[in-house]
Amino acid sequence: MRLRTLRNLNAADLEGKRVLVRVDYNVPLEDGQVKDDTRIRASLPTLQFLLDKGAIVVLASHLGRPKGKVVPELSLKPVADHLSMLIGRPVTFIPDIPSGAEQIQQAKPRDLFLLENTRFYPGERSNDPEFAKLLASYGDLFVNDAFGTAHRAHASTYGVASYLQPCVAGLLVEREVRYLTEIRDHPKKPYTVILGGAKVSDKIGVLEALLPKADRCLIGGGMAYTFLKAQGKAIGDSLLDEESISHVERFLQTFGDRIVLPEDHVIAKEVRPQEPLEIVEEEIPEGYRGVDIGPKTIAKFVSLMEGNGTVFWNGPMGVFEIPGMDQGTLEIARKLRQVTQSGTITVTGGGDTVRALHAAGVSDEEITHVSTGGGATLEFLAGKSLPGLEILKEEE
Ligand code: ADP
Ligand code: MG
Repeated sequence: MRLRTLRNLNAADLEGKRVLVRVDYNVPLEDGQVKDDTRIRASLPTLQFLLDKGAIVVLASHLGRPKGKVVPELSLKPVADHLSMLIGRPVTFIPDIPSGAEQIQQAKPRDLFLLENTRFYPGERSNDPEFAKLLASYGDLFVNDAFGTAHRAHASTYGVASYLQPCVAGLLVEREVRYLTEIRDHPKKPYTVILGGAKVSDKIGVLEALLPKADRCLIGGGMAYTFLKAQGKAIGDSLLDEESISHVERFLQTFGDRIVLPEDHVIAKEVRPQEPLEIVEEEIPEGYRGVDIGPKTIAKFVSLMEGNGTVFWNGPMGVFEIPGMDQGTLEIARKLRQVTQSGTITVTGGGDTVRALHAAGVSDEEITHVSTGGGATLEFLAGKSLPGLEILKEEE
């Protein structure tokens, strides 16, 4: 997919121009403070690029699910303050989007604005043309740098493109598309894919797209039990995704030699803290659930991560939120850092996976590419068309 990007524009396209930038500032807040600023930091290269070129930057984002109403706890005001601190210049917050025109008209080059939460307005999610036009009126051109919402056709991610040209990809979107295209279409070999998480059904499309490209696919987490069940193994009360069984059987038939499943398991009667844990090989007894991959499986998975051209990881190997059920996930995260240091291209993504990566003490800079998208990343890898990217496509 060829995108029009920020870097295709000339200095004259940007100097003194108002640039509406859709960013993904859907960040966790706690007591009116930004709790994790990964997504804000991820937007800085694009903002710095625009400011260096003398543009006037108007930022738009959603935060949480306020359902078209003003919800004070979901205001982007704390994000404006945090951004100002990170970028070292004032950020003018526009608390009411419809009445921002005057302030933005009077702006000077290198002024920086952040609009209030777009989802305070019902027109955002319904992609209402009037709301899209209002947003479009704040820019002379549009930059989409919100990869995490690229799978939504909302006013600020999609609708604006009908009223504002040119539309180009920001540096973050460009980077996401470059790495995710590489691991989906032409990974450097050997290629190992590691998938986990709760449900197979969330990842059918990803398996479908990546199994043909991968040399090996290691499956752990809640997903693994549906595969083991399909092989006729006893899985006790472990997660089972009944609806996906037929897909899983087909994957095992076609790609059985590439699919690597857990050989031992950490099991518990209940999924809760302080629950006694046991380790079993092969079969899981009735009354027990698999909550993590076992030590033999960890050793095997970790050794298969070595010596690859590319490793992609999505989905925790166990219930990593609970101490004692997190070993498999933490070891995979740390190994990912180690193989990155030896020259393997490593890519990871998914809300829970990235949380687990950080919980293991691994930073984004220690991995080749940490995707900022959850659903958008999975849809992109599955080969679906994403509305927020469609509007940025180079004419064929
Ligand atoms: P991501 O957000 O990275 O795409 P998912 O949402 O697919 O990941 O999966 C994460 C969830 O999967 C976590 O909440 C984790 O507790 C759960 N999970 C992983 N392994 C198991 C398991 N064996 N049993 C139940 N839940 C599991
Ligand atoms: Mg998740």
